[in-house]
Amino acid sequence: MLTPALSNQGSYRGRFAPSPSGPLHFGSLVAALGSFLAAKSQQGKWLVRIEDIDTPRVVQGADSDILHTLEAYGLHWDETVVYQSQRHALYQDVQNDLQSQGLVYACQCTRREIKQRGGFYDNHCRTLNLPFAHNALRLQQNFPVNSFTDQIQGLVNIPNNIAREDYIIKRRDGLYAYQLVVVLDDIDQQITHVVRGADLLEPTARQLGLFKQLQHPAPQYAHLPLVVSEPGLKLSKQNHAPAINKQDPIPATLAALRFLGLTPPPEAEFASIVDVLNWAIESFSLHKISKVTEKPLSDAY
Ligand code: GLU
Ligand code: ZN
Repeated sequence: MLTPALSNQGSYRGRFAPSPSGPLHFGSLVAALGSFLAAKSQQGKWLVRIEDIDTPRVVQGADSDILHTLEAYGLHWDETVVYQSQRHALYQDVQNDLQSQGLVYACQCTRREIKQRGGFYDNHCRTLNLPFAHNALRLQQNFPVNSFTDQIQGLVNIPNNIAREDYIIKRRDGLYAYQLVVVLDDIDQQITHVVRGADLLEPTARQLGLFKQLQHPAPQYAHLPLVVSEPGLKLSKQNHAPAINKQDPIPATLAALRFLGLTPPPEAEFASIVDVLNWAIESFSLHKISKVTEKPLSDAY
């Protein structure tokens, strides 16, 4: 079962939640460092969760490679690393609960059909009573969120058709969807602050709605500018962003700090990566981060 609401909201608990689909690249370093510094500058805990729920995208060994890279960069996590693939019982439990309240229905619509109907889901199958087996499952959206305040981006408005969409919580292939499990994990790990890339800005509205549905207070959200190689093109494992160098963590870390709005002294002034991080913990502030949803890589180097 999910843990009850935190009584001690004062203690900061942040997290970094990489998908093990490849090695850490500069974009994921920015997310790791941003969430780490936000937590450590508030004397908080920083947890790591391996988001390996989307098994077809998981690359064998990527999880341990990511963890070794974090260690090489001095980003030591608190508590035990959590793997989504080992948490089906929790997800199933909540699915059953939502289902028993009549909030879950099966959907047969293909991506193409949805596109033809305007590109967003119009809750087409809500009243059709389709069988659950071999179909995607959607959650009735009873708590649409049209706007929220982000700690970096400020007021974020969400188009009504996206806010009202009944979204998929379990895919046709039987895998739980990111948008369900991310909230269940953040609740279970008692996360108070989420710092991550701005590619997840829109899904945040859904996540806030799900916290309401589950009657649990939501964390604070801060969305960092996404690192792009050119406008609109996210640096990602899918477009073969190079892995960051495990042997020489300082240059990439200094570049990531500049990306986060800090002005670190030159490399020669630091004896070790620990020195760099201590300087960064002292200097970090969410207010120094640009209020934009993407920034080119060339801004850091
Ligand atoms: N696993 C997601 C990713 O790698 C991040 C999810 C999150 O931070 O909420 O993009
Ligand atoms: Zn449908």
